This record gives sequence, structure tokens and C-alpha cells, in this order.
Amino acid sequence: MRKPIIAGNWKLNKNPKETAEFVAGIKGKLADAAKVEAVIGAPAVNLQTLLDAAKGTDLKVASENSYFEDAGAFTGETSPKVLAEMGVNYGIIGHSERREYFHETDEDINKKAHALFKNGVTPIICCGETLETRKAGKVDEWVSGQIKAALKGLSAAQVATAVLAYEPIWAIGTGETATPEQAQEVCHLIRETVAGLYDQTTAENVRIQYGGSMKPANVKELMAQPDIDGGLVGGASLQPESFLELVHYQD
Ligand code: PGA
Repeated sequence: MRKPIIAGNWKLNKNPKETAEFVAGIKGKLADAAKVEAVIGAPAVNLQTLLDAAKGTDLKVASENSYFEDAGAFTGETSPKVLAEMGVNYGIIGHSERREYFHETDEDINKKAHALFKNGVTPIICCGETLETRKAGKVDEWVSGQIKAALKGLSAAQVATAVLAYEPIWAIGTGETATPEQAQEVCHLIRETVAGLYDQTTAENVRIQYGGSMKPANVKELMAQPDIDGGLVGGASLQPESFLELVHYQD
């Protein structure tokens, strides 16, 4: 049984004070951790504050990006080893904004996945197509290609614990959500891709999130899809009220 995972992705938003205020706003109000996992992905400069504030709660913490080396002359980068030492649970990698604005390649993302696993941080690996790719009818080959590249060299045991996030780029921050059927179709394709690369058990264990304008108004129908195990949520994760509504989608 895959445990649903609702993860906020704050992007470049909030300072430490606002981070602590957010956690104060959700404290004691999260859904039963046995039924749904709640995660917040925050900018690196806010992670320590988030970890401190989240102590004693069931909230898990994610980084939004990390490098594939643990240490060295890599000015401005975030060490996956230090993330692990701090107690960060998840590491988002390969977000479309990282790919577009910071020129991350499939190969970088694969190296980052290896580095996170090596340090014991679970990667949330993002994939997703542009509107042009969708219009050209190439979603399947594009998304399965991204997944194959990102997972290269990882073991079945690692992949079974990973989180894969399908985020159609045309639905991110646009208010335009993929229909539950569109999202399900691609999340199913991702699971089939994992089955082809590994085996059925690994495919049944890996958790797949949908991301792209997920909000309280559409979370239920998206989460009702058989291959959607969670959400990676930008805008609707910034306020405690809407984040709480998302994690309580089962109520
Ligand atoms: P959004 O962002 O929920 O604001 O569309 C999702 C994401 O980029 O992870």
C-alpha cells in the first residue's frame, strides 16, 4: 500500500520568520501521519528554521535542489551530505524551473538522485512536458525518456522508495490543471516505465505525485486516480489553511 504524500514546494518564497509562522499555523492540525505524509520543500536558507519549527510534529522537510557532490569548490551549491546531517527527509530534484532557468540536464538530475540516495535523503524526481510537446503528441516518449534518464544506475530497492513527480509544465502556476484523466494517463505511463526498467513490485511501490495547480478544489479528484499517490504543490502550499486542506483531502 502506497502512503499518499502531499508536498509543498515553496520555490523562492518566504523568509525564516514567515517559515516559523507557517509551521505555527499548521501545528497540531496535520492529518493522521499514518494516512498521509505531509512535506514542505523550502529554500535552503530556510531549512534549518523549518526543521527546528517542525520538531515534534509529523511534518517532513524537503530541499528544493541539491548538488551531486558532497563538498568542494562548487560555489553557491547545496550539499546533499549536509542536508542529510541536518535531518532533511526529501530532496526535490529536476523541477522544470531548475531545468529551464538553471539549465539542468537529465544527466545532472541522475547524478543528483545518486548523491541524495548515497546520503540517505529520498529524492522527489520531477518530470513533465511542455505544451508544445503535448500538442505534438509526444508526451509518452518525452516523459518516459526523462524517467529513464533520471533513474539510470539506481537499484530497484532505491527506486521503490523514491517519489516521482509528474508536473506538466503548462499546468505549473498557470491555474490550468491537467484533468484527472490526463494526469492519471501519464502517471500510469510512469509506473509502466518503472515496471519495464525494473519489475512489477518496484513499480507498485514507487510513489507518483501530480503537480501543476493542485489546490483544495481539485485535490480530491486528482488523488482518486489509481496511479496518483500525492501532489507536489506550489501556490496552494504557501498558506497554512490551504496546505491543511490539501493534506486533509481524505476527510
Ligand atoms: P503550482 O506549482 O502548484 O503553483 O502550479 C507546482 C510546482 O511547480 O511544483
